Amino acid sequence: MSISLEGKTSLVTGGSRGIGKAIALMLADLGADVVITYARSEDAANEVKAQIEEKGRKAKAVQADAVNYERAEEVIADIVDQWGKIDIIVNNAGITKDNLILRMTEEQWDAVITTNLKSIFNYSKAAAKPMMRNRGGAIINISSVVGISGNAGQSNYAASKAGIIGFTKSYAKEFASRNIRANVVAPGYILTDMTGELDEKVLESIKAETPLGRAGEAEEVAKAVAFLASDLSSYITGEVIRVDGGMAM
Ligand code: NDP
Repeated sequence: MSISLEGKTSLVTGGSRGIGKAIALMLADLGADVVITYARSEDAANEVKAQIEEKGRKAKAVQADAVNYERAEEVIADIVDQWGKIDIIVNNAGITKDNLILRMTEEQWDAVITTNLKSIFNYSKAAAKPMMRNRGGAIINISSVVGISGNAGQSNYAASKAGIIGFTKSYAKEFASRNIRANVVAPGYILTDMTGELDEKVLESIKAETPLGRAGEAEEVAKAVAFLASDLSSYITGEVIRVDGGMAM
């Protein structure tokens, strides 16, 4: 038994770097055509597009601020117009703007909530009708263990990531009868640009709290996403899979 996404079309938000890039490349390895979106990193996004095409798949890299609902509708409409359907959406785009609550600005709160949570509504809603017409689909939303456990200094991020879990379970209930499955992957500490900004002491304490005793790789998150995107998970919806080395156990 192996995972195949042959003939599937997919969209990964924030596919220019980090976890989103690893997911986009893995979906392509498994046979899917892939659209990635990005905010600013045009060169990096075009490089990912080229890597997907080298694997023999169709690819597009499109600039699309995940916060913008109309842009989400356009991106998905273009995929359906040009490739006929959309099978898989991976809502991965996300940011951090950490601060203790007493110091957190309204701007820091709003930016993280809209980028991380509203974006999930945008692409999940925009994909719903095309997926219903196509008689099925898979949505995978990237949360975080911080959305399960909370974290001092990350109240905005934790709220956005906990919100993703509540949204996904509601979405899964609303669309199960249409054969659209929606699940969450909640990574722990994964080596990317996002965690590259953490200082050495914080990183050491995160590792100490992780039973597997090491940071995760973006590809290890991508494997869980690939499973949830494929028919191997055909009876799984509304689930949260932690990919965290046991951190939030
Ligand atoms: P990176 O900072 O490495 O990459 C973030 C990606 O999101 C980039 O492709 C970026 O595009 C894109 N992005 C950011 N803002 C927007 C926006 N407004 N519109 C469109 N795209 C946007 O992050 P990671 O790869 O580490 O994180 C990916 C996801 O995984 C996030 O949701 C994060 O919260 C989550 N996560 C990460 C963990 C970790 O340890 N790294 C742990 C738990 C969860 P551009 O390149 O153009 O800026």
